[in-house]
Parts: sequence; C-alpha cells; structure tokens
Amino acid sequence: METLIPTINRLQEVFLTVGAEVIQLPQIVVVGSQSSGKSSVLESLVGRDFLPRGSGIVTRRPLVLQLVNVAPLQDRLKSENGNGVKQNAQSSYPGVKAEEWGTFLHCKNQIFADFQEIRREIEAETERGSGDNKGITPEPIYLKIFSPKVLNLTLVDLPGITKVPVGDQPEDIEAQVQEMILSFISNPNSLILTVSPANSDLATSDALKLAREVDPDGRRTLLVVSKLDLMDAGTDALEVLLGRVIPVRLGIIGVVNRSQHDINTQKSLEDTVRDEHAFLQRHYPSLASRAGSRYLAKTLSRLLMHHIRDCLPELKTRVTVLSAQYQARLNSYGQPVEDHSATLLQIVTKFASDYCNTIEGTARYIQTSELCGGARICYIFHETFGRTLQSIDPLGGLTELDILTAIRNATGPRPALFVPEVSFELLVKRQIKRLEEPSMRCVELVHEELQRIIQHCSSYSTQELIRFPKLHDSIVEVVTGLLRKRLPVTNEMVHNLVAIELAYINTKHPDFTDAAQVSASVNSQQAEALDGGKRWKNEKVAEERIPPAGFGSPSKSQAINLLDSAMPVSRKLSSKEQRDCEIIQRLIKCYFLIVRKSIQDSVPKTVMHFLVNFVKEHLQSELVGQLYKQGLLQELLIESQDTAQQRTEVAQMLEALKKANNIISEMRETHLW
Ligand code: GDP
Ligand code: MG
Repeated sequence: METLIPTINRLQEVFLTVGAEVIQLPQIVVVGSQSSGKSSVLESLVGRDFLPRGSGIVTRRPLVLQLVNVAPLQDRLKSENGNGVKQNAQSSYPGVKAEEWGTFLHCKNQIFADFQEIRREIEAETERGSGDNKGITPEPIYLKIFSPKVLNLTLVDLPGITKVPVGDQPEDIEAQVQEMILSFISNPNSLILTVSPANSDLATSDALKLAREVDPDGRRTLLVVSKLDLMDAGTDALEVLLGRVIPVRLGIIGVVNRSQHDINTQKSLEDTVRDEHAFLQRHYPSLASRAGSRYLAKTLSRLLMHHIRDCLPELKTRVTVLSAQYQARLNSYGQPVEDHSATLLQIVTKFASDYCNTIEGTARYIQTSELCGGARICYIFHETFGRTLQSIDPLGGLTELDILTAIRNATGPRPALFVPEVSFELLVKRQIKRLEEPSMRCVELVHEELQRIIQHCSSYSTQELIRFPKLHDSIVEVVTGLLRKRLPVTNEMVHNLVAIELAYINTKHPDFTDAAQVSASVNSQQAEALDGGKRWKNEKVAEERIPPAGFGSPSKSQAINLLDSAMPVSRKLSSKEQRDCEIIQRLIKCYFLIVRKSIQDSVPKTVMHFLVNFVKEHLQSELVGQLYKQGLLQELLIESQDTAQQRTEVAQMLEALKKANNIISEMRETHLW
C-alpha cells in the first residue's frame, strides 16, 4: 500500500488547494469470528505489530485506527528550523521527535513513540471500558498512528463473532457483537474485510453472512482466508481460494500470519512475510502470486485506487471551474507594473479618452440611473439655463412709476413732447442686466458637472486607477486644476456677453425696427394730439416718487424736484403718461426678447468653447505634462496594498490549481489502476 502514499499525498494537495474535504478513503473494517486472525491481518497491513492478539477474546472494544501519513522526521525537523521545506499543516507536528508514533483520543496529549506501549495502552483501555473479565463494549477506542509509511486510511478492528458467553459476558453476547459489527459495516464507505480461518468450514462463516446482509452484491466485501498453515495434513484450501466453494466478487486471498509461537518469540514482520511467501510457493504454487499478505495489501491498494479514480472527474471539474474564476480575478487586477512610463501613459490616455467619451456620450460605460456627462451638460443648457431665461419676465421688476420717473428724468427741466429714447435705453439695460446672473450660474453648473465626470471616470471607467491610489489622486488634482483655471476665463467671457449687450442698444436691430416704428408713429400722434389739445381719456392713479432736493442718484439728478419731500405722492396718471408707459414697455419687451434669445444662444456656445472643449482638447497634454516626470513615475504607480497582496494571493492560488490540474490529468492517464 505504500505505493499509494505518494499518489494520495499529491491528491491531498489538490484537495487542500480547492478547499474541498480531504478525500474520504473507505474505512476498512475487519470482521470475523473470534481468533480468526483479524488483528493479525490488520497488523500486517499497517506493517507494525502493536495490536493485542492471542487466543480467546482479546479484542473486546472496537478499535478505530486512523492512519495519518506524515513527512519523514528529517523533513519535519528541517521545516521546523525554517529551512523552507514546504509542509501543509497536516504533516507538520512540531515537537514530535519520532519517525512514527501514536496518540489516543482518551489521552490526547500523550505521544506514544513505543509501539509496545501502544499495545499496553489498548489493553489497559479495553479493561477500563469493559472490565477485565471478557466483557465487551461498543464504545470504540480511537487510536491515531502517524507515520511516513502509512496511507491516510481508517481501519477498524472489531471483537470477534462469538456464540457462547464466557466470563462476565452477557447471554446475548452474540447479538451484541453482531450489532456492533453491523453498525460499522453498514457504512457504505466501508470496505469489509471478512477473515475466516482455513481450518474451519467456510460455508458456516458468520462473517460472510453478516457482510452479505449489508453488501448483498459483494461490491465491498473481500475474503481473507487465514491460518493456511494450520490445516490438517492432507487437506488444502485450494478449492476455497479459487472461489469454488463460495464466490466472493472482489476476491479471496489466503494468508499466513504469525502464530502465537511467532508472537511469543517476537518474530519480525519481515521474516513472517518471507516465510509466508515460501509457504505459498510450496503449497499453492499456482496461486502464489495471488495470495499472501503482500497481495492482500496490493489488492486493497487497487480497490482504494478505484475509489479515488471515481472521485477524479468531479475533482477535475471543480479545479477547472475554480481556475477560470481565479484567472478572471487575476485579470481584473492587471499585470504588475514593469514599464512605468508606458503604464502611466496608457492609464492617463485611457482616462483622458474616457473623460472625453463621457462628454461625447460615446463612453463604454453608460449610466442608466441618471444623466451624466454630455447629456447632463445638454440638460443644463436647455432645461436649467434655457428655462430660467424663458421664465424671466421682460418687464419684471419694472413698475409704471419706474418708467415715468425714468422718462421725466430723461427730459430734464423741460416737459417732453416725445418719449425720450434715453429712458428706454436706461430701462432696457436694467432688464438686460438680469440675464447675467442665470448665465453665470450656467457656467457654474457645467463646471460642477465636469468635476463630476472626473469621479465618474476614475471610479467606473478607468478600472486601473483603483490599483494606483496616488495616480488616481494626482489625476483628479490635475483635471480639477485645469477646470479651475478655465473657470475665470469662461466667467469673464459670459460676463462680457452681457456687457456687450449693455454696451450698445442697437435700435436698428432688424428685429427691432417694427417696434421702433410703432413708437415713432405713436410719438408723432402724440405730438398731433398735443397740438389739437386732445386729452387721453383713461387716467390712472399712480404714485410719484419725488426725492428731496439733492438726494437722488446721479442719473436721476436731472429731475431735481422743488418739493422738499421724500414721500410718494399718489395722483392720477395723465393719458399721455399712460401712453408713454405703454410705449416704453412695448419697446423694452421687444428689445429684451432679442437680447435674451441671443444670450440663450451664446452662453452655451461660450461655455462649450472656453470650458468644455478647451478641457477636452487640453486634458491629455495637461495630464502628461504634469504627471509624466521621471522622478514621479515610481511614486505615482505604487499599487494599493490591497491590490498587490490580492494579486499575489490569487496568482499563487492559480499556480496551485494548475498543479492540481496536472496531478489529476497524470493520475487519469497512468495505468496504475
Ligand atoms: P483475532 O481474535 O481475530 O483478532 O485473532 P488474532 O489476530 O488475535 O489471532 C488469534 C491467534 O491466532 C493468535 O495467537 C495468532 O498468532 C494466531 N494466528 C492468526 N493468524 C494465524 C495464521 O495465519 N497462522 C497461525 N499459525 N496462527 C495464526
Ligand atoms: Mg483481535
């Protein structure tokens, strides 16, 4: 079975890698009548003699014997001294200086390096559990044997089947033992090793009968015929061994164990195996190659191998799936930086193009939850800004009194015949000024959006940036800086747009001429009316604001009044005044709409030209100019701790999975089976 060890150990590695339960090898349970040689068979399988054996009932409690493969002492010591021999946690036992040793569950911390002592402990524990007078108990003794020469396998030694109670044994001893045996062999993951001595009638073998009960198809039952050396002279077990008496699907294997005399004289296991071989050669030459303890071990190996092979396809699938998952994760971390300047340029370029694409609406990653980038800028222009402008009342904040005051101020000391143009200019400018505030706000909103796109690109689009927090921060800083630099320029331009409108009131504007004509005609009518002494009918009540002398704004100072009162005076509006008001209002409205239309059109264009497009065009060169500096590269491209560590871990896992995959493939191809 030792040939299986390397295989199992390698597989173990695979299982540890994929985080699966370590492969469950079948548990081998020996079943047979009392003194049939069960303990002896187990011992020869383990290769060490440490089980109590003898005549009468010796095994009186189940012994669950868990074999644990460990690295040779030499290697273990090396790894303890930190010499880098890699061990998995299972095979490193710091502090244990024995090559092979045992431990019991009932005295966990005690290391039994002497196998004679293990036997004594089993005997003592048996007596503790079931008394010293042949009583049996179903309570198992758990023993672990650690050795570089064993398979990770569990063997179960059971009390023999007995019929007649002796000593303290209860009347139903037979039933009790049977129940105990059944509880172990009904486990479908157990291999039943029925042991029958050659010197008794196989047909009456209770062991085989019990095995049939739980394994009617004989898929996991093996028959060991012991004591071939003790047969009556002139008889042999050939018929039995050939399966002619009772066929056993997995095989019938004859063995010669140590006799009581051999045990008493401490015959070594090596000698026993050699003598067994000689015996078989002499008495069963035709069967010699298919009998004996060695062959039994080999057969068990083969059965275990089959079991392992059955597990492989599932294991393979698992490894493949995990590999794909880890590969994807590794890809997402990107490759470790080798060429710093190329990496930096690549990331900066990617960021710049992501940024521009987000504005253009051609980004790969398009948000669906809210407007962003170019679409949002469009929204700001046409919805936010456009609507605000539309909602401005051309005559808002302008009372008739304001108009009248302006007219009177414009005419100076003489009463005017015509509506003075100066008052129109004065008043319309006041209204145009109201366009400035929303225009400036529009710049601000677009600026904010451009700022938002930085965040958007650095966290969603340009994944690589997550790896390099320093570069991330620097990029944000540079772009923010660029935006900030463009803000005053754009603001000034937009301010100027309004200023330009204020600079010259173009009453010859093509869209204004109609209104201008109307006012002209009204003016002339009014002149006629005055000439003819006609009166306007509807007279309105208005307030007149007459500031005290020398207390007006300079523009109104022409209208210095003689009355020494600041109190508004209510009086009726003359028809002429009312008419004048209407004319002025109409003109203001008309001219204001022209200007508003122009501002509504030119502000977005200005913002695009001075801010958005400028940033788009200069982003890449600004980033490169500020970040692509030899002294900076290393520092900017320091990965975040997380990324670096995770990549290493994932890469290691992937490596382990590859190895696991190779192991599985190799195993499936070998013809060991
Ligand atoms: P168990 O009760 O089934 O565990 O049987 P043991 O292994 O304790 O063996 C009972 C006795 O039979 C011991 O004295 C063994 O030495 C002896 N014995 C077992 N197998 C053989 C065998 O193949 N040949 C001879 N000569 N004696 C054997
Ligand atoms: Mg026994």
